[in-house]
Amino acid sequence: MADIKNELGWSRTRMGQFHSCKRSYYYQYYAKWGGWDYRADELSKTAYRLSKMTNLPMLVGTAVHTVIQHILLDLKNIGRIDMPDPAYFARKNLLTPAYRDGLAERWRKSPKHHPPLAELYYGPDPDPETLKESGRKTANCIENFLQSGIFRNLQDDDCSNWLAIEPSFEEAKQLKVDGNVVWACPDFARRVEGDVCEVWDWKTGKPRAEDEMQLLSYGLFAHEIWGFAPDQIKLCALYLDKEPGPDSVVSYPCSRERLDSLLVQIRSDFAEMNTLLSDPVQNIPHDPDSHFPMIPEGPTCGYCFFRQLCDRGAPQKRN
Ligand code: SF4
Repeated sequence: MADIKNELGWSRTRMGQFHSCKRSYYYQYYAKWGGWDYRADELSKTAYRLSKMTNLPMLVGTAVHTVIQHILLDLKNIGRIDMPDPAYFARKNLLTPAYRDGLAERWRKSPKHHPPLAELYYGPDPDPETLKESGRKTANCIENFLQSGIFRNLQDDDCSNWLAIEPSFEEAKQLKVDGNVVWACPDFARRVEGDVCEVWDWKTGKPRAEDEMQLLSYGLFAHEIWGFAPDQIKLCALYLDKEPGPDSVVSYPCSRERLDSLLVQIRSDFAEMNTLLSDPVQNIPHDPDSHFPMIPEGPTCGYCFFRQLCDRGAPQKRN
């Protein structure tokens, strides 16, 4: 197999980690590189394993997104949903096996295919109420999607106007800024009347300030990759974990000015990331001790998947 190159890229998540803790950014984007190889050193192997880690809220998000993707692909490919009970499917076929895999520590064989679950890895194990709550939240998000105005509308829509259904990074077309990859591909997008592009992001968490930048980066994708004029792009986030009632949709304005200011931000972020590289062409980082400091111990470390590598957490022993 050809060697895969570690390329510098931009995503909202990456920049969040960059600003939150340089050491965790180093583990995620550099130390883990090659850690999938049995010949790699222990630091790379551990960083790789921890980079694959997930937790219960992330599991819920993944399950909800997977089911919605499945539903929309069914609608597009066969004109109906081939899943009698999507919420049940999510709990039984996605959440439960992932949890059992975590309990069985199947990550020891393949962290890529069986990611460690932070709650089980570091402990304490979640109590039954917390597990039930994850199942309830998953079902609630899926039910709210099925009851939403956008889903009702999509059922009678012409699928040939659909532009993206949550493509994986491998499938997604690559958006580049000055030759650098920008990871930004929406959960769903379609062309609607008047050559307007409607972009949707399914949210299982609560609204956050950084959601706007994420949606704008999808706007940049719609503009650069599909060629829509900036003011013809509608950016919508659908918040799924809510009480019954009207949809919780937040729309963000898109315009030439807003995309330009995002581009300025992305270029500045690339410049800042480059300052941590001894060889920007090859994306080789400086020494971690001098350029990727740990932050003072605090709540961020308490949630950090990499805390084992900083001696700020240890895997719990399972029998
Ligand atoms: S444990 Fe703390 S210092 Fe270490 S990588 Fe995580 S957030 Fe940074």
